[in-house]
Amino acid sequence: MNPENRQNEPVPAGNGRHIRRAVVTGGAGFLGSHLCTELRRREVEVVCLDNFLTGTAVNIEHLIGDPGFRLVQCDVTDFIHVPGDVDLVLHFASPASPIDYLNLPIHTLKVGSVGTLHALGLAKEKGARFVLASTSEVYGDPQVHPQAEDYWGHVNPVGPRGVYDEAKRFAEALTVAYRGQHDVDTAIVRIFNTYGPRMRPRDGRAIPTFIRQALAGEPLTVTGDGAQTRSVCFVSDLVRGILALAWSDQSGPMNIGNPHELSVLQIARDVLAATGSEAPIEFIDRPVDDPKVRRPDTTLAREVLGWEPEVPWQQGLASTVEWFRSAVEREDLVESGQG
Ligand code: NAD
Repeated sequence: MNPENRQNEPVPAGNGRHIRRAVVTGGAGFLGSHLCTELRRREVEVVCLDNFLTGTAVNIEHLIGDPGFRLVQCDVTDFIHVPGDVDLVLHFASPASPIDYLNLPIHTLKVGSVGTLHALGLAKEKGARFVLASTSEVYGDPQVHPQAEDYWGHVNPVGPRGVYDEAKRFAEALTVAYRGQHDVDTAIVRIFNTYGPRMRPRDGRAIPTFIRQALAGEPLTVTGDGAQTRSVCFVSDLVRGILALAWSDQSGPMNIGNPHELSVLQIARDVLAATGSEAPIEFIDRPVDDPKVRRPDTTLAREVLGWEPEVPWQQGLASTVEWFRSAVEREDLVESGQG
């Protein structure tokens, strides 16, 4: 079974919240587009705000023409205006892969600060629930393993990754301030590495890079000795967790991710097996400040939301490889819209 079809579970009851209309910033991106799709499946009207900096309209083309879906091309660092009622704001606009945020360092800081300010302002104006897409990167190169929400992190603010990590840490602080000072009903989700269909083959993240290389018969470029770990979550599990948080009355921060930890070398080997490729593995330099280990402690999400990841790695990987085989043929489309 395609794991994307596993989302046919009932809408989470949460605290009985009634969500009829949602705004998704960054809705044309990898995660945003899956959120828009699932919200429409739950019959929630969706307004998607995106400037196509790292996302593309191709990701949401299946929703165009749906009367419950509206796409507005705009930059959330400029201004956000959405006419009508809004019950939920999901703030996902931000470059997210290292290639993107290293290319766009100032924009990354702007969208995490000014963009978050505007998205929170929209939630305040509409009396809407607000969910901030934060990241496991707030834990930096962690000295505590696995990472629970009460760990403050180990981030180098002036290293190259600081633009992303600190933007998200600022966004978290701003979200907490809006909750305290303006009574906005906020939540923070700390997302761990997620993979699945609609990732860009050249976004630089390990899984799409390995799959693209394997399908092209090129060497798989593993950084360092490949012993560093990542815990990867299939996108349908992540979307289910985020929406369970959105429908709940929890404020977070809450880790959502898959605690199944893999070394980067193992990920490369599994990609070779899943694609049937005989490409070699090539070891290249590790990026600066690259975290050595990464695994979420998901006790909180399990206890308060009853959420747990369900899609096994081999199954999620097979479905991602299947999607990439078709995406490689239209790579120009998938890559379009990059800033
Ligand atoms: P993505 O690059 O595919 O999506 C981000 C979207 O935001 C893109 O469509 C982009 O065009 C849009 N965007 C960027 N700046 C904007 C602006 N100023 N105004 C309007 N739209 C703008 O990335 P993604 O992987 O889908 O990540 C989405 C969110 O989730 C990000 O906030 C990211 O930090 C967070 N996150 C993702 C992961 C992951 O594994 N994918 C992990 C942790 C956190």
